[in-house]
Amino acid sequence: MSAPRPKFRENVPGKYSINEHCIGCSLCRETAPENFCINYEEGHDYVCKQPATPEEEERCLKAMLSCPADAIVNDSSEEQLS
Ligand code: SF4
Repeated sequence: MSAPRPKFRENVPGKYSINEHCIGCSLCRETAPENFCINYEEGHDYVCKQPATPEEEERCLKAMLSCPADAIVNDSSEEQLS
């Protein structure tokens, strides 16, 4: 099992974040455009707004589960598991 990668510094504080596994495929921005943004210079996405409604939360969760690189982290679910 590989060690977790560092998270991008652009992520806004909160439970969702993107780490350096991101390959910049844009799927999360297509799934939850209010919450995920791209850093064009570095070619990766990051969390630019934490979900504020049940609908945004649902889209963020869907994005996390769909990410082909497993780069989206939900810290609150990690806490619940420990
Ligand atoms: S879906 Fe995953 S790999 Fe694709 S841009 Fe978003 S965080 Fe990066």
